[in-house]
Amino acid sequence: MSEKVVILTGASRGLGAALAEKILAPDTRLVCIARNPNDHLGSLAAKRNAWLDYYLADLADIASTEALAASICEGLLPDAESYTLINNAGMLGPIEKSEALTAMEVATTLSVNVVAAMCFMAQFLAVTKTFAGARRIVNISSGAARRPYAGWATYCATKAALDMATRCAKLDEEGSANPARFVSLAPGVIDTQMQGAVRTSTSEAFPHRQHFIDLKANDQLTSAEDAADNVLKYLARDDFGENEIADVRTA
Ligand code: NDP
Repeated sequence: MSEKVVILTGASRGLGAALAEKILAPDTRLVCIARNPNDHLGSLAAKRNAWLDYYLADLADIASTEALAASICEGLLPDAESYTLINNAGMLGPIEKSEALTAMEVATTLSVNVVAAMCFMAQFLAVTKTFAGARRIVNISSGAARRPYAGWATYCATKAALDMATRCAKLDEEGSANPARFVSLAPGVIDTQMQGAVRTSTSEAFPHRQHFIDLKANDQLTSAEDAADNVLKYLARDDFGENEIADVRTA
């Protein structure tokens, strides 16, 4: 069998939707997860005769996420050419000074950006451990993982945690018969709903806000389509996984 398997979270819009559209192909089984449907993707799959499974799920719900990740991964056929997990789903969380953060907001963001991603990694690594196909994990990180921003304590902390989870997972795979390869990849600044939320924050809570308003006004945001191309190009590199912390802008 020469099938490719791709599991992609956050495929309803933005970068994830653009990735899904580019991944859909007759030789690929694409499994998507998001809270909202993506009807365009469904019709595109039918048109391209491509295999698409689309699960509606809230990744902030840790218990059901673990069960879903287990059931998706346990259903993977063992003889595909390659297995790829793209943890793309993410949320900005509260844009607030640290003094104003609440436990619930922080916990929800942590659940989506870190717990769900680690949970999918765990199930994916455990189930595909004995498979012969190439095993790759892309965690969509952010420049904010590596540079602090006032007002973004929650987002920065969750993306930094995702970076470190990726580094540790790489070490955990050392010495395995068919080690999974990893990258925690910053995708650039992308023109999506998430950037819209950045621009509508207040400059009191987020002093860097004007910079992002200027990027949009000066047409300097990357389109979701171009960002998806950059991520997929990175995924296809021969040296994928050598550097587990990367940024498409400096790759
Ligand atoms: P969007 O807000 O446009 O899309 C986020 C995606 O994540 C949606 O498909 C959304 O689906 C999904 N998602 C969010 N919360 C949940 C949840 N609770 N359960 C399931 N799915 C969820 O963001 P982007 O496309 O911009 O972001 C994609 C990734 O890129 C994120 O990880 C983000 O942190 C990262 N990134 C983005 C940058 C940017 O400039 N836009 C810059 C750097 C990194 P739904 O709402 O249907 O559940």
